[in-house]
Amino acid sequence: MKEAQYPDYKSTCGWNKLLPIRSNNPELTQNITADVVIIGAGYTGVAAAKRWHDIKPDDQIIMIDASTTGEGSSGRNSGFLIEIALANDISSSATEKLMQCNQLISDTLIKIKEDVSRSSIDCQMHRTGVYRVAASTIGIKSLNKYIKFLESTNLDFEILNNRELEENLGTKYYQKGLYTPHCFLVQPAALIRALLEKLPSPITYFENTPALKCLKSKSEWIVKTPNGDIKAKKVIVANNAFCGKLGFGNSYLATIYTYAGLTEQLSKNNLELLGNNNNWGILPTHRLGSTLRRTIDGRLMIRSLYHYEKEGNKDLIKKRLIDQLRKRYPQLPDLNFETVWGGATGLTMNGGWLWGEYEKNLYISAGCNGGGVVKGTLFGEHLANLANNESTLDIKKLFGSANWMPPEPFRKIGFNLISMIESHRGKSEI
Ligand SMILES: Cc1cc2nc3c(=O)[nH]c(=O)nc-3n(C[C@H](O)[C@H](O)[C@H](O)COP(=O)(O)OP(=O)(O)OC[C@H]3O[C@@H](n4cnc5c(N)ncnc54)[C@H](O)[C@@H]3O)c2cc1C
Repeated sequence: MKEAQYPDYKSTCGWNKLLPIRSNNPELTQNITADVVIIGAGYTGVAAAKRWHDIKPDDQIIMIDASTTGEGSSGRNSGFLIEIALANDISSSATEKLMQCNQLISDTLIKIKEDVSRSSIDCQMHRTGVYRVAASTIGIKSLNKYIKFLESTNLDFEILNNRELEENLGTKYYQKGLYTPHCFLVQPAALIRALLEKLPSPITYFENTPALKCLKSKSEWIVKTPNGDIKAKKVIVANNAFCGKLGFGNSYLATIYTYAGLTEQLSKNNLELLGNNNNWGILPTHRLGSTLRRTIDGRLMIRSLYHYEKEGNKDLIKKRLIDQLRKRYPQLPDLNFETVWGGATGLTMNGGWLWGEYEKNLYISAGCNGGGVVKGTLFGEHLANLANNESTLDIKKLFGSANWMPPEPFRKIGFNLISMIESHRGKSEI
């Protein structure tokens, strides 16, 4: 069996760079035993660990991460915590099920908020709502579809024209948009730090400790790491985009990289050119479109572009991201990034998750498809329930289950082809 590939993020970038330096937890340097080992200390892993501790307070829980807190995708994302289903989830025939999912998601958000309020870290978590915007005919078509869905659900929303968008967001770029109040914005690296801040003592967390292999022995699993093995009765695989690299779920999940840039803090004069709302987030209507934010500390963020299985050229990405931002804000020609980064997400064929007992006593929750801060938390908790025979939600029925993906080279060819066509069709939305 080959050793797993894992994220090897050593230099602090992105949101983590804006936070004070923290001292890392130790690496694992000896062989140990535990009741459960959790691979990945992102939202899913942390939620699973905490829930496991609630169910079995005396169990020894080991959680390992290949990198350090805030350096993985849990700290690299755009910080949208959405309380309702995303556009690619919609089908008006499934409205009742959707309402149930929305309730679960919104309850999970309340729990996250409570955890945040107990921590000493300011996560800049605010219920700002979210804009969905369209710059071209293809974007308007998807926006109208989303409006139809919202109408069928009785959820609040407001439609905005080009002038109203400009007043709020300081850009003339978009033709039509809508605003829904169902979203929090957060500083994601601060959020994952906050959630990891006060772990109960039976949870031991090792950083810079990648799982290289998971081997099954008679009644146990052995998780191999560079400087020590962990023997455990059960394993939770919560490393999302990298789950296939450990040899699990390869037929359901691919690793996709996407990128973001955060500007320096803008001057007072420049901020005055950005409309009257000082904390907002924009989600694209087109599936390859760009996400934007104006942060409460006066920066702009853009998230865009995708690559299959491997990060793209950093200089090219930086150039494309800044061009995309300047195109939206021609009144700020000197915009520059303080930090640019890439992050991995687990992509599945149909947007469903890979969730459940994958092999005996080995459980997986993976395949966030770019939106797993809240869902990851919910699914991590329920994975701990499942592994401990506690009552659990039927995640697959409610949120969908990942479909089989064709093997290589068809998968890569398919991704690149669709990406090329969609990038061309939706070029104004990128
Ligand atoms: C640029 C970007 C923007 C995004 N924006 C949003 C957004 O606005 N809202 C949203 O909900 N989602 C967003 N996402 C997706 C979001 O980051 C993920 O859904 C979320 O982080 C999933 O949490 P997780 O715990 O399941 O996985 P992750 O956060 O990916 O955590 C998995 C952890 O496992 C570790 N790991 C990997 N391999 C190994 C190994 N072999 N051994 C040990 N540890 C390992 C990693 O270091 C990582 O810390 C975005 C993602 C990116 C990249």
